[in-house]
Amino acid sequence: MTTALLTHADCLGHVTPDGHPERVARLEHILHALEALELKRVTAPLAADDDLLRIHPESYIRDIRVARPADGFAQIDGDTFLSSGSVDAAYRAAGAAVRAVDLVLGGEASNAFCAIRPPGHHAEFETAMGFCLFGNAALAAKHALDHHGLNRVAVVDFDVHHGNGTQGLLWDEARALVITSQQMPLWPGSGRPEETGVHDTVLNIPLAPGSGGAEMRAAYETKAFPRLRAFRPELIIISAGFDAHQDDPLANLNWATDDFAWITAELCRIADEVCDGRIVSTLEGGYDLNALAQATRAHVEELIKAAR
Ligand SMILES: [Zn+2]
Repeated sequence: MTTALLTHADCLGHVTPDGHPERVARLEHILHALEALELKRVTAPLAADDDLLRIHPESYIRDIRVARPADGFAQIDGDTFLSSGSVDAAYRAAGAAVRAVDLVLGGEASNAFCAIRPPGHHAEFETAMGFCLFGNAALAAKHALDHHGLNRVAVVDFDVHHGNGTQGLLWDEARALVITSQQMPLWPGSGRPEETGVHDTVLNIPLAPGSGGAEMRAAYETKAFPRLRAFRPELIIISAGFDAHQDDPLANLNWATDDFAWITAELCRIADEVCDGRIVSTLEGGYDLNALAQATRAHVEELIKAAR
């Protein structure tokens, strides 16, 4: 079986102002780094509004569409901008997450990686935030639960920033376990251990500034992995942000490329144990272009190894 790679050229049409870290070149570097890998390449569809309505109200979806500028930029948050291509990109990003779930649950791929932008894990119910428009990972979880009828889905978010949007969208969802590690303190400020959700299905793992791969591995081995195994998800969704890398300019963790390979391999091992290896991974952050490309490649290579 294979690893699916979902992406679309529209995700390169989401342009941000000069100097903005979440830029087109991120995805270009990633796609170049993945070029030689053996992957089932799938064109990401536009998400249906019915899918988006699983996580956002109609008024919010309309507001995002209406805010799209004909040219130039529309600013909708302190650091979130729309260009003329942003709405299509956001619909492709969300559509990739939905399609990836369909492929993996339908047995057409063992696992999948969505090379998409804008990212999604900061987007809240009716608020765009932190470069994010639609909650791609939370949508993947809801689609797996509500459309495919799964009973238990886990989201693991190793982006250096707290996945506040995913946490909020799944806060009262007893069928979803949300595990998110983040540098603390760091923007957006949430993600304390006492944030556990309505049904105690949220696990926040703060990591100290300056800490590295050893601290991360210990935290995942003692806190995240036992919780994940005990929950026995039928699908694991990864919010794959690569900004905990030591070269990343937006944060102060010191993970090496090898640490991203390690965490991916461990998640694949658990997926093999509990859910026939079913993993859907979606791109979140990562702002040093070379580190991002290398870490993403290491992540996808582990998915490929696990799919064999
Ligand atoms: Zn991030």
